[in-house]
Amino acid sequence: MTDSAIRSPVYLDYAATTPVDPVVAERMAACLTREGNFANPASRSHLYGWQAEEAVENARQQVADLVGADPREIVWTSGATEADNLALKGAWEAWRSRSGEQFPNGGHIVVSAIEHKAVLDPAEWLEAQGVAVTRLATDRQGRVSPEALRDALRDDTFLVSVMHVNNELGSVNDIAALGAVCRERGILFHVDAAQSAGKLPIAVGDQCVDLLSLSAHKMYGPKGIGALYVRRHPDVRIAAQMHGGGHERGMRSGTLPTHQCVGMGEASALAVARLDSDPVAIAALRDRLWEGIRHLPGVQLNSELDSTACGHLNVAFGGCDGEMLLLSLRKMAVATGSACTSASLEPSYVLRAVGLSDELAQSSLRISLGRWTSREEVDFVVQHIRDIVPQLQRKRA
Ligand SMILES: *Cc1c(COP(=O)(O)O)cnc(C)c1O
Repeated sequence: MTDSAIRSPVYLDYAATTPVDPVVAERMAACLTREGNFANPASRSHLYGWQAEEAVENARQQVADLVGADPREIVWTSGATEADNLALKGAWEAWRSRSGEQFPNGGHIVVSAIEHKAVLDPAEWLEAQGVAVTRLATDRQGRVSPEALRDALRDDTFLVSVMHVNNELGSVNDIAALGAVCRERGILFHVDAAQSAGKLPIAVGDQCVDLLSLSAHKMYGPKGIGALYVRRHPDVRIAAQMHGGGHERGMRSGTLPTHQCVGMGEASALAVARLDSDPVAIAALRDRLWEGIRHLPGVQLNSELDSTACGHLNVAFGGCDGEMLLLSLRKMAVATGSACTSASLEPSYVLRAVGLSDELAQSSLRISLGRWTSREEVDFVVQHIRDIVPQLQRKRA
């Protein structure tokens, strides 16, 4: 294929967000206009409402199937950020009203030091309310060790929150092992699975997960919708953070957006159907990209590929300035750090936490591949990097 057949810049930022799958978009469009399934799913008094409710409940089943849950354990949210907030703050409020008298000092939670800001910021907010927070260091690959977790637990620990796949590094935590540590002590275990859904199998039962956050737009669904899995057996209590009509069994009020729910449901069904094929194909392309650039001087991986989820490639281009890299690699759309922090020129807190120097962290790029990345695009990007990076290194030397 010639260069002109490739849409430039090549989109390699699937970890920030994914395009909506055309099948998903079609199902969503059928839930918007007058001819479609547009009604309020909470309208109990007419056929329009019943049809919308049926579509939402069908989608809830599809999301439940993605993680091995019962549909009654799925709470719709606006995304993983809201799901994380609901999990942390909701668990704290529920714990406080039950056990607050026994532990007047405010309780304790454990999070990993490289969680997404959607977990770290609510944790900091809880800290300001008097909760003690342990931020667990990870190994060089960004993984939390079950032994380190066990050592961090206290008598008043009520929640542990560890992500499945890190958004910057792609590193994978052993959720079942961490879950077992929490279950042994009767401590709630929350998992941010925004980056792992559709890439790795999730089974909340086997993995001893009590609360789990999902985001549709990281798995070829629409932005603006996500879900929180809340275990029913044994019953996990969380306090609502959004009060209103008492929707979602009182855990999250607000009229459900039928088209968004249907979109996330369809995206979940596709993720399940493609779990055996997509990740293998994407990992092969990711490995091909790395093979193409690994011999460049000063280039190194920030997370070993055999311990990294399929789409992620986090690379340090030693001797290059990060800002110059982004400006010069104009034929590819990638990220420095994560999308949410890349507006600032601060080196990534994740890369620093796994031991990179400020300088290497600043010369790192997160390249993330997805469902529509092609071999031609990979080869095109490899050539582009080979052209540009040595020039930048010479300029700086
Ligand atoms: C994207 C992401 C989030 C935030 O999800 P939204 O649906 O955009 O709110 C949270 N955690 C992780 C790990 C993510 O990658």
